[in-house]
Amino acid sequence: MSVTPLENAPPADRWDDWVEFDAKSWPRRVEKHFAVVPTTCFNCEAACGLLAFIDKETWTVRRMEGNPYHPASRGRNCAKGPATVNQIKDPERILYPLKRAGRRGEGKWIQLSWDQVLEEISSEIRRLLLEGRRNEIVYHVGRPGHDGYMERVLQSWGIDGHNSHTNICSSAARLGYDLWQGTDRPSPDHSNARFILMISSHLESGHYFNPHAQRIIEAKLKGAKIAVMDTRLSNTASMADYWLPTYPGTEAAVLLAMARILLEEDMIDRDFLRSWTNWKQYMVEERGRPDASFEDFIACLKEIYASYTPQFAEHESGIPASKIVEVAREIGRAGSAFATHVWRSAASGNLGGWQVARSLEFLNVLTGSVGTPGGTSPAGWDKFIPPPFARPEAQELWNELLWPRGYPLAHHEMSFLLPYFLKEGRGRLGVYFTRVYNPVWTNPDGASWMEVLRDEEKIGLHAALTPTWSETAWLADYVLPMGVGGERHDIQSQETHAGRWIAFRQPVVRVARERAGERFDFTYQANPGEVWEEDEFWISLSWCIDRDGQMGIRKYYESPYRPGECVTVEEYYRWMFENSVPGLPEAASREGLTPIEYMRKYGAFEVPGNVYNVQYTPVSPEHLAGTHVDELDRIVSDADGNPLGVMIDNKPVIGFPTPSRRLEFFSKTTKEWGWPEYALPAYIRSHVHWANMNRENGEYILIPTFRLPTLIHTRSGNAKWLNEISHSNPLWIHTSDAKRMGLRTGDLVKVNTEIGYFIVRAWVTEGIRPGVVACSHHMGRWRVTESGETNRWCSALVKIDEEPGGIWRVRQLKGVEPFQSADPDSERIWWQDAGVHQNLAFPSHPDPLSGMHCWHQKVRLEMPAPGDRYGDIYVDTGRSFTVYRGWLALTRPAPGPGNLRRPLWLQRPFRPKDKAFCF
Ligand code: SF4
Repeated sequence: MSVTPLENAPPADRWDDWVEFDAKSWPRRVEKHFAVVPTTCFNCEAACGLLAFIDKETWTVRRMEGNPYHPASRGRNCAKGPATVNQIKDPERILYPLKRAGRRGEGKWIQLSWDQVLEEISSEIRRLLLEGRRNEIVYHVGRPGHDGYMERVLQSWGIDGHNSHTNICSSAARLGYDLWQGTDRPSPDHSNARFILMISSHLESGHYFNPHAQRIIEAKLKGAKIAVMDTRLSNTASMADYWLPTYPGTEAAVLLAMARILLEEDMIDRDFLRSWTNWKQYMVEERGRPDASFEDFIACLKEIYASYTPQFAEHESGIPASKIVEVAREIGRAGSAFATHVWRSAASGNLGGWQVARSLEFLNVLTGSVGTPGGTSPAGWDKFIPPPFARPEAQELWNELLWPRGYPLAHHEMSFLLPYFLKEGRGRLGVYFTRVYNPVWTNPDGASWMEVLRDEEKIGLHAALTPTWSETAWLADYVLPMGVGGERHDIQSQETHAGRWIAFRQPVVRVARERAGERFDFTYQANPGEVWEEDEFWISLSWCIDRDGQMGIRKYYESPYRPGECVTVEEYYRWMFENSVPGLPEAASREGLTPIEYMRKYGAFEVPGNVYNVQYTPVSPEHLAGTHVDELDRIVSDADGNPLGVMIDNKPVIGFPTPSRRLEFFSKTTKEWGWPEYALPAYIRSHVHWANMNRENGEYILIPTFRLPTLIHTRSGNAKWLNEISHSNPLWIHTSDAKRMGLRTGDLVKVNTEIGYFIVRAWVTEGIRPGVVACSHHMGRWRVTESGETNRWCSALVKIDEEPGGIWRVRQLKGVEPFQSADPDSERIWWQDAGVHQNLAFPSHPDPLSGMHCWHQKVRLEMPAPGDRYGDIYVDTGRSFTVYRGWLALTRPAPGPGNLRRPLWLQRPFRPKDKAFCF
């Protein structure tokens, strides 16, 4: 018998032929033989490791488990990882490339070959490039799932066409961090922390859910204490030592009150502050005191934050002053082992939310817990992106449709304003790719997206690259099925903990069959139907665009091993693993493997090297020739004046990638670019501040951003297990507010926004602050025909009516119900609720500085009128346009110093050449 005793996970040396008894054959002992292939989850950004168990009789994926060799996830997953198998086997998935046959949105499709797709789309791109209409080509991504790949593709085409979802997700927090440290994310070393402060329910639903959660629990088991600042009593808050249910948008007031306590009670790290903040620059520029001492600066700090008393913070936030003092002292005692995190949540909900991240990082700076064991590092220290072969030069263009002059400090593209820009005639799109992105459903004001997506004058060709049907794909010209986590290649690395790693996503059936001796030219030949992968699609498309090599594109897609021939995806990664990952060739050789064989075998690699206190890394001697050192700030600059590092203890070290090479308490950038009042960490009152709510009139603050740990925006729509677990999004309302309104759990309530309303059921709870209501954003998927275009596991059948003047009405005709399919589970569906969509009824609120959509809403609750039904949505896109113009008026547009569109040092994805920054 070849079945072995129980194991936590199959040992890697048995992955070619792992044997188990077939559960369905019990009590007979029937052996099943599996090929076990590692890959990477695609269901959130964390990129946890998965092992696919592939039945060697049928070459189909039987199940997914955790990959014990992955340094971040260490064999564990959340519910969404194993549910990848649902997505692979979903009977309603898109299996073949489709082209629209009727009007946009009419739902008529014909099947195409991939060759036809490549020919038709490449012809259009080629035409636009040759006609000099480069800014009409835009690639708009929701979930990238890779590092660096698309930068190479779009820059090889010479376009500034990358558009992301980030300004509806995280760009406010990114700006707050970037202004401090020159990198835009925090990387807390949770497992070594003594005190952890999370803004929101991060542990259960945050950015790096599973890798963070297991390390937070490790810290807790070692005695660390946890504080959670979240208006809702989330699962995370319920397990914390301190729950701080602030009024939405008042978080920075509490954080700065804590900063004041640390200062007043001398619980700060003076040496760190003296060495690593730009305090001298502040004293010169803002106080006119070049001779000021460090203690003078500390006195100024105390003066600046004197008004942030615990009593003031209590008044703003509703958190008792005594609790704020207690938590601040815990932070002070934790010192350098203080781990923090804010990602979406408060930063993404509020006007000025970027200052929440800036104020939180201020606590790390004061305690000297930046880059320390148990502290919080810049994300770049815990992430490794291996460069590919033959990198194209940066583009020379600037695309104003994506980076408009009104938002020079926006951290990412102003993507959610695209419909308004198109309506205003600021430009047109000739070829528009949406990739794992569903703006009609995900973005605010989806009806305005529908209005422009169906308009061929505004968008000439729309290709949706997607693993599943979506409300947006329904409005595309081409629907191109792309693989999920076990059906594609990608390289990914994330700042999940104090360490650096890369993970290799693989098409597991292709890899298993190639292990058995088969060969495939393209991944779609091994995937279900003709589901492809983006890597090969973009290589092939780029090759087709530049048919004769005259456009200068082909050279980036020629094999580094076979000159003149098109690179294969195998060769792309082979070169990277052989040349760009330190330590990998040696690790592979120790096992008698090549680097790509090692990555195909284990699926992940931990990159060696120090990850703590990286700012002390010496400037490399070859860069020191011709440098000079600034008298005041001790900045080491090259001959052109570009900062390279800073002198610390008379040694040149790299510091942080900011203009001062230090952590910038004082942001000269913010000042020079028109916002001098926000040059320091400060509290900005939110657009939904509680003082502007009249509860007697039914006015409340709506939190629409919270996540459920079992769902993933659009992509969980075809994961039956996940839909069985979570399929409702009732409105959380406090007991006292429900009583005032005469509401009980299950009653319908009408939620009025600035541009319309939606009707949802109430859920009465003590787990939310009075005056605030909350609704998870994952629900309310819809479809407009009985079958097809949005998965029936998750969607309601709706009728969408449109009236002149931009009036839209959506009514649910029926909810989820059993249906016949190749999967017998579809006839066992027992739930009916598809939830209620709310984002359609939200106008766009672009923060004038960070560019982030400020998600929280001021709403008015009322009882539904006769005839109103569950799930009804009403929207007026004329009003949403007016609201957009109102927020637009708050901006302070470029140019900035030097007639620039944007500061040269501030991060920008797909960064063009410097000259493109100039008007
Ligand atoms: S946290 Fe869950 S969804 Fe995210 S990558 Fe890990 S297993 Fe997948």
